[in-house]
Amino acid sequence: MTKYPHLLAPLDLGFTQLSSRVLMGSMHTGLEEEKGGFAKLAAFYAQRAKGGVGLIVTGGIAPNFRGRLTPNGCQLSFPWQIKKHRLITEAVHQQGGKIALQILHAGRYAYHPFSVSASKIKAPINPFKPKAMSERQILSTIKDFATSAKLAQRAGYDGVEIMGSEGYLINQFICARTNQRNDSWGGSYCNRIKFALAVVKQTRDLVGQNFIIIFRLSMLDLVEKGSTLEEVIHLAKALELAGVTLLNTGIGWHEARVPTIATSVPRGAFSWVTEKIKQHLSIPLVAVNRINTPEIAENILSSGQADMVSMARPLLADPLFVQKAKADQSELINTCIACNQACLDHVFKQRRASCLVNPQACYETELTFSPVMEAKNIAVVGAGPAGLAFACYAAQRGHRVTIYDAADQIGGQFNYAKQIPGKEEFYETLRYFSNQIKHLGIILKLNTKLDSAMLAQLSVDEVVIATGIVPRTPPIEGIAHPKVYNYLDVLKDHKTVGERVAIIGAGGIGFDVAEYLVEQQPSLATNLDRWLDNWGIDSTMSNAGGLKKEVLKHHPLRQVFLCQRKASRVGKGLGKTTGWIHRESLKQNGVTMLAGVEYLKIDDQGLHIKIDGVQSVLEVDHVVVCAGQESLRSLHEELSALGRHSHLIGGAFLASELDAKAAIRQGAELAAMI
Ligand code: FAD
Ligand code: NAP
Ligand code: SF4
Repeated sequence: MTKYPHLLAPLDLGFTQLSSRVLMGSMHTGLEEEKGGFAKLAAFYAQRAKGGVGLIVTGGIAPNFRGRLTPNGCQLSFPWQIKKHRLITEAVHQQGGKIALQILHAGRYAYHPFSVSASKIKAPINPFKPKAMSERQILSTIKDFATSAKLAQRAGYDGVEIMGSEGYLINQFICARTNQRNDSWGGSYCNRIKFALAVVKQTRDLVGQNFIIIFRLSMLDLVEKGSTLEEVIHLAKALELAGVTLLNTGIGWHEARVPTIATSVPRGAFSWVTEKIKQHLSIPLVAVNRINTPEIAENILSSGQADMVSMARPLLADPLFVQKAKADQSELINTCIACNQACLDHVFKQRRASCLVNPQACYETELTFSPVMEAKNIAVVGAGPAGLAFACYAAQRGHRVTIYDAADQIGGQFNYAKQIPGKEEFYETLRYFSNQIKHLGIILKLNTKLDSAMLAQLSVDEVVIATGIVPRTPPIEGIAHPKVYNYLDVLKDHKTVGERVAIIGAGGIGFDVAEYLVEQQPSLATNLDRWLDNWGIDSTMSNAGGLKKEVLKHHPLRQVFLCQRKASRVGKGLGKTTGWIHRESLKQNGVTMLAGVEYLKIDDQGLHIKIDGVQSVLEVDHVVVCAGQESLRSLHEELSALGRHSHLIGGAFLASELDAKAAIRQGAELAAMI
């Protein structure tokens, strides 16, 4: 008897059946626009189909030129464009999977000067101002959606998803925020939803009954002048009547100032929204956002909140998610930690998406781990992310691997990251590696600090040095003062920190330490009601857009000053899609962020600084140094001196600009070729 009977149950759509309740949510990968990208996409989707996903939805494809997200964005409007899509549909069908093409018209989110929308109102996140669509343009765009769907059907797709949420064109017609027309497509709610309904009706007419139409409906806009609950229910019912097969949930416009998928968002934080709509419909509904384990998915389905769950990033992280759940091996699932570092942050920078914890994602044909002809004995020094990734991929290929670490647990710096409020997901990566070590028969030697003499005596074929970093100590007068700590004193040794603190260095770790020092425990990410309150989300959905009028008052644990030498905005270098959340969260907790700081000295009084030529003293109890790191690579150099070759990866190879994404990828790349 499976632990996940609801998740693994098939779903009967009448004319077709889905093998499980997992819908792989739409993700743009960047391969759509790359030369030769469709063959790589085919391998990417085929692997997820093989892994047991019930229905895959592709990244958004525009129905016409103006609807493209970027000038070179992918579009499906002409018969000659079908051929490359067949690569995808055939590969997925060969694995017994099903796939729908998402049709997305960007509207005013299009990043080019040809954008159009319901009205000519610029989006706050896009420099391009759209033109208001004429009646003729509206009618031809509706036709373009239907044509795209018909072409998708001819290309072998099992259905389409019509993108009606996240603030894209259809959503822009629905809400008064962006639709200020005074013709029959604007004004009353009934007029504003006419566009969405016409798109669905024309599509259904053209594709016939036996073709899946998913509609992604914005159920909670999280912006002012969004829809009310009553309006969403009205539209959902009308969409059902218009011929929609499955109703998918959309949460939050891209311009919303509420986090919806970041790691600090509690798991399954929005399934209650889908539940509110579900009771009014008879077609199946799909719940979304921050569903990343079979347990949370099973809870949502078994409690009747939804009929399917959408997971996107969790299937980047582990294509075999469903298969492992079926085999009762959920402890071996490589869990998405919702960091956005290799997926969304890449896509926003026009780079190919991948995954921090699974560097093979979107590189299925390029980064491969074929079985070895001759197994080698390999010693890995350091069980941080770099060493762990190398060890697991090398053992998977058939090598005999032993990992040594000086600490009493695996994980290196991830053991400090996991303590940061809102980064609890990092525990999952350590759980995954720990189980992989057992599963792959890797020998693990903890509490074992190796020196070069010990290493030289080991009878091994290869040595991999993954010893990481040491925190940098900047040369500031008074740096040895007892009130100065580094971040390891705080996060590893848990030294007592006073009520007023200055942090030197505002990189990722400086921000994390600030969060750790101000936020109450247990963190908001573990308490949904407090988290919803914190971000002003109205769970009764009585206000339009689902936002509360008043904002919660915060009670930070300490007064913190976060300093950097650069004159640029503090936090500018943080992740594109998550940096604003970290800045906002520290602002809510009253953290003072100082840029252009010159550090003069530290003494009993505090941290003496100069900004724009003006001297002042931050009278603090402690100064915490988060000023970057330096590589710990002495073992490599000592072995070289002894004439022994070793491989260097992770922080030991390069400390500047190193993060876990680079560390894990380096480990994987070395394992693929050793
Ligand atoms: P490390 O993680 O430093 O591991 C090195 C290991 O080697 C350690 O376990 C150490 O005990 C062992 N070792 C050293 N010398 C020896 C020896 N002689 N013998 C045996 N063992 C030895 N990165 C991100 O990408 N995203 C984040 O959100 C993020 N958050 C972070 C938050 C915090 C608070 C911190 C501190 C770091 C964070 N990082 C984050 C950075 C990330 O953790 C590091 O980039 C990553 O851990 C580097 O991996 P590594 O394997 O190279 O080194
Ligand atoms: P970092 O991001 O490079 O930041 C180092 C900070 O120290 C900068 O603010 C730098 O700013 C300051 N600094 C550097 N040299 C200094 C000196 N000599 N004196 C005083 N200040 C100095 O590195 P990190 O914060 O240590 O993080 C390490 C890695 O982990 C990074 O790659 C980071 O991206 C990753 N990480 C990511 C996250 C995340 O959420 N994605 C979280 C934590 C860590 P100034 O030079 O302007 O002073
Ligand atoms: Fe999840 Fe991070 Fe991987 Fe994106 S990069 S899929 S958020 S673990």
